[in-house]
Amino acid sequence: MSTLALTGIGELSTQDPELGVLHDAALVVEAGRVAWVGPSRQAPAADAAYDLGGRAVVPGFVDSHSHLMFAGDRAEEFAARMTGTPYSAGGIRTTVAATRAASDEQLAANLARLVDEMRRQGTTTVEVKSGYGLTVADEARALAIARQVTDETTFLGAHVVPPEHADDPAAYVDLVTGPMLEACAPHARWVDVFCERGAFDEDQARTILQAGAAKGLRGRLHANQLGPGPGVRLACELGLMAVDHCTYLSDEDVSALVETGTTATLLPGVEFSTRSPYPDARRLLDAGVHVAIASDCNPGSCYTSSMPLCIALAVREMGMSPAEALAAATTGGARALDRSDVGHLGVGARADLAVLDAPSYLHLAYRPGVPLVAQTWVAGRRT
Ligand SMILES: [Zn+2]
Repeated sequence: MSTLALTGIGELSTQDPELGVLHDAALVVEAGRVAWVGPSRQAPAADAAYDLGGRAVVPGFVDSHSHLMFAGDRAEEFAARMTGTPYSAGGIRTTVAATRAASDEQLAANLARLVDEMRRQGTTTVEVKSGYGLTVADEARALAIARQVTDETTFLGAHVVPPEHADDPAAYVDLVTGPMLEACAPHARWVDVFCERGAFDEDQARTILQAGAAKGLRGRLHANQLGPGPGVRLACELGLMAVDHCTYLSDEDVSALVETGTTATLLPGVEFSTRSPYPDARRLLDAGVHVAIASDCNPGSCYTSSMPLCIALAVREMGMSPAEALAAATTGGARALDRSDVGHLGVGARADLAVLDAPSYLHLAYRPGVPLVAQTWVAGRRT
């Protein structure tokens, strides 16, 4: 097996607790994994070398929350919101109509475009949800297409009650936990529910997550985004890896997150794009909660695919330090997906990295909106 040495790394932020941040570092890749990492002068001989010219390197970002399986866009709705119309969960139905009308090829092409866009901004692991089909066939095809690009696929049949079931939401929950789950489970690793006023309540969410678990799907939850609610405590009660949004939290919610170790995934692009109050990351971190940040890339409430933007927002708007924000975008996301092979650059990790046209990872927050990611490597290959 041949080895490749990545040399000339000005600053290497490993996100490995023992290694920390190294300067004038090198990293050796073998079979797509990190085989060695340390100071340049101690680097072992390798079959080939590639000089990164003094640039900073960080682990590839782990975006643990996105909605990339859709068609159409909602730029007009965004423009209306910016001139005074508040966001509500109902806008999802606009995308559902466009997604149902799209061909498999159109959905796959839109997904590929967005994954490529993420890749160019340093994201190397992405979770992709269904949730804009909301029929058995449309949800199953969304997940089958998503599976072509990522292992981290999430069945979100419980995104919103579709218009044809508006009179009988209970019948829709039966569909989600019955035939739809049956068709989607083979293509999914996770099951998710939008647990919020106007979407699904606590009992419905519990029923759906338990039905998913019986089919081998692990749970995650959208909760406490638009107001206080039972979702965060339900996620903790069920021992989920992650509960996402977490803007409106009681002290009891925060205590439950600390006790269970459930990761709170914050999605600051949503608050930015909907002009809403940001979650209080400082409060969570000071209490000892595990925090991830993710893009929530979707055509309605947040159409950014940029993890560097989310890092900058986490620092500027949510009280996180640049180091905390980078950790949340890498190891935090990995923890939210229960992955130990990504999100860090310790020995044995998948060699996923973002090479920055900058001397330090600090520039991710210091220079918002600037295309700093010069190269993205996945499993030891430049993409
Ligand atoms: Zn979401």
